[in-house]
Amino acid sequence: MGVTPLSPDLMQLHRDAFVFDGHNDAAIRLLAGEDLSLHLEGGHLDLPRMREAGFDGGIFALWSDPGSERPLEDALSGAARFGTFLEETPGMRLVLDAGDLAEAERAGDVAVVIGVEGAYGVENPDDVDRLYDVGVRCLTLTWMAHTSWADASGLEPAHGGLTREGHRILARLEKLGMIADISHAADTTARDVLQAAERPTIASHSGVRRIADHHRNLPDDLLELLARRDGVLGVVFFSGYLDAEFWRASNEVGARLEAEGMETGSNPRSALARAVSEEVTPVPFERLLAHFRHAISSVGPEHVGLGSDFDGVIALPEGLEDVRDLPKITGALAASGLSEEEVRAVLGENLRRALDSVLA
Ligand SMILES: [Zn+2]
Repeated sequence: MGVTPLSPDLMQLHRDAFVFDGHNDAAIRLLAGEDLSLHLEGGHLDLPRMREAGFDGGIFALWSDPGSERPLEDALSGAARFGTFLEETPGMRLVLDAGDLAEAERAGDVAVVIGVEGAYGVENPDDVDRLYDVGVRCLTLTWMAHTSWADASGLEPAHGGLTREGHRILARLEKLGMIADISHAADTTARDVLQAAERPTIASHSGVRRIADHHRNLPDDLLELLARRDGVLGVVFFSGYLDAEFWRASNEVGARLEAEGMETGSNPRSALARAVSEEVTPVPFERLLAHFRHAISSVGPEHVGLGSDFDGVIALPEGLEDVRDLPKITGALAASGLSEEEVRAVLGENLRRALDSVLA
């Protein structure tokens, strides 16, 4: 399956479908002072491009810096600013409950669920209430550092999974009607969450480890557990998680730039992204499809979705420049033998089901 232009029928299917993405980092640009309602230079998404792409909504994450002195306060003020922007921006709508999601679709607005990526500064269930009160509806438990109650992936363990406080925090998320997101969590944490969870949980932006052996990807047993909880894996588009060789080669470029004192931020407009695009062989589109195929064949199309990580990564597979290339995924899913209903499920209906079930 390569990237071929869509037939009019498939383009119609894409336009009609509810296209909802599990994770993007566009809010970073907003908080840096850029106006997401305008067509921005570079990067992956903004309102005009989302409209062009038939992108109906997603979980927009506020990245939380584990090195900040007041990460919870940062997240709270970031969410408040984002909320104000959404209120003032025709065409985008803040989703606080399942009704808002339906209303956004009826009105043709981009539905925005605010997430916080990395629960740094969240020390107890009452801190979760504070996030809820400013409109946050999804909490990615960790980013790339442990919290005081949950281990992140790719590090020496600190707690061996979710601590007792972590269980109390998870229970509060579920009670309030917030999504618990296990992307970035250590396998031990993800297992603890999935065993304790009573509501659907998501892995908002991860790949599958069977295809690329990376700690950010889900092993088969966790994928199955996620599906048993009626959860959804949002398949990430980041080349580094999709392909082990790309990860290795791009890290080498990153280490060199760092040694030269250059900026190596993980966004598509960084010096690192530029250097990697010049020096590292891009990951074929087919590689992204392999992750979709493995997840779909393992747990069924009803537990798989989109998890782009747009605007939070230095490289996407060949053929994906920005959000406007999403129809290519629709075409590839249809060409892989999925029925029209199954294609719609992967494009957004599965994440809608999880949100409808969890949001109060
Ligand atoms: Zn992430």
